[in-house]
Amino acid sequence: MQICNNIGTNEKGNLTFAGFDTVELAKKYGTPLYLMDENKIREKMRTYKKAMKKHFGDGAMPIYASKAASFKRMYRIAKEEDIGIDVVSIGEIYTALSAEYDISRAFFHGNNKTPDEISFAIENNIGYFVADSLTELESINAEAARQGKRQKVLLRITPGIDTHTNKKIATGNVDSKFGVAIATGQAYEFVGAALGFKNIDLYGYHCHVGSQVFDAETFIDAVDIMMDFSAEVKRRYGYEGEILNLGGGFGVRYVASQPDLDIENSIREVGEVLTQKCTDLNMKKPKILMEPGRSIVADAGMTLYTVGTVKQITNFKNYVAIDGGMADNPRFALYDAEYTVVTANKATLPKHYRCTLVGKCCESGDIIQEDIHIAKPEKGDTVAVLTTGAYNYSMASNYNRLAKPPVVMLADGKDYVAVKRETLEDIIRNDV
Ligand SMILES: *Cc1c(COP(=O)(O)O)cnc(C)c1O
Repeated sequence: MQICNNIGTNEKGNLTFAGFDTVELAKKYGTPLYLMDENKIREKMRTYKKAMKKHFGDGAMPIYASKAASFKRMYRIAKEEDIGIDVVSIGEIYTALSAEYDISRAFFHGNNKTPDEISFAIENNIGYFVADSLTELESINAEAARQGKRQKVLLRITPGIDTHTNKKIATGNVDSKFGVAIATGQAYEFVGAALGFKNIDLYGYHCHVGSQVFDAETFIDAVDIMMDFSAEVKRRYGYEGEILNLGGGFGVRYVASQPDLDIENSIREVGEVLTQKCTDLNMKKPKILMEPGRSIVADAGMTLYTVGTVKQITNFKNYVAIDGGMADNPRFALYDAEYTVVTANKATLPKHYRCTLVGKCCESGDIIQEDIHIAKPEKGDTVAVLTTGAYNYSMASNYNRLAKPPVVMLADGKDYVAVKRETLEDIIRNDV
């Protein structure tokens, strides 16, 4: 059984991805190699767009959280699919601008936007700031005033939901570096302050409860808490937010034991609760935004490597070392991320070989996946790590002065380079 419908095997016994023979692609482009299935990305964007309009109403829109995979081609696809984007730094804004993405549709996130970032964003007429703190609101207001502009803003509110996911990716708790908490009462002061700034136009609220969330329940809780909050704000200040941004976080299936989340159905459930809640509170239905990152790109990605050393420690364990590692995929090292691994040129053989897949970095923690079962690999074989479309290329580093792999897009039987492989010259470009 494959974990996503863009994965299969062919008559040669090779792993296929988006209809392509992965072993052929590894030969053509070299390894390590990131692959992205463009049709899958577009399909996901359309699924969100359609389901959100249907179940939340006309103003609803998905906002692609571009930190999941940020390079020019991704912003062009978002533009073509007519969806919004999230950006979290001047670098992402610059990339979006250079891809001719209209950033009046962008939402600027981050818990510590620098003065340079704030002024660059306002100069380039960014759509919305998602203000993370009172300090930041003051800075945005001052900079907008300096530029003679008014800036649209959403406020990042911490609803106090524990998503039961890994702590490092749970962000909706009261104890979080992000946002201002309802539980402490500070969120009301935050709104009061925002309403008082002359160069800020308050449009509503944002919350993001975490990542790898597999149930609609978490989002339903968020709607519940955020609409109660909005109603209380209305009672205190007479202000009714126009936008409610529910953040990202829908889960992705990395291994067969995880569920295959039905996005449309989850959105339908959240939509029903929202409608009921607004009726109960006698509030207008806000425009609902969601910010999927991972669930748009993760299963549209795959990484190919070449096997080098296979080391068997007698009566203990086996290590399979590949030509990449934590520099192109730091997620296991960071938070024990799970992945499915396949020996791509032996994809139909029994998966009997128990091993740990490691990289080539000088670091014992340089592990891609621990204790897996794959078809026994030998030097020169191609190994595929599945579901690497999110937070792999975007988290890649040049640790050990390794060059970042290219991103090759696959679409309708055509393969093309979206990001070139770094060269040795690229590695020393900034050294003086
Ligand atoms: C990271 C992030 C997202 C995307 O989360 P996913 O789990 O990738 O869907 C959305 N919104 C904000 C504010 C984020 O920080």
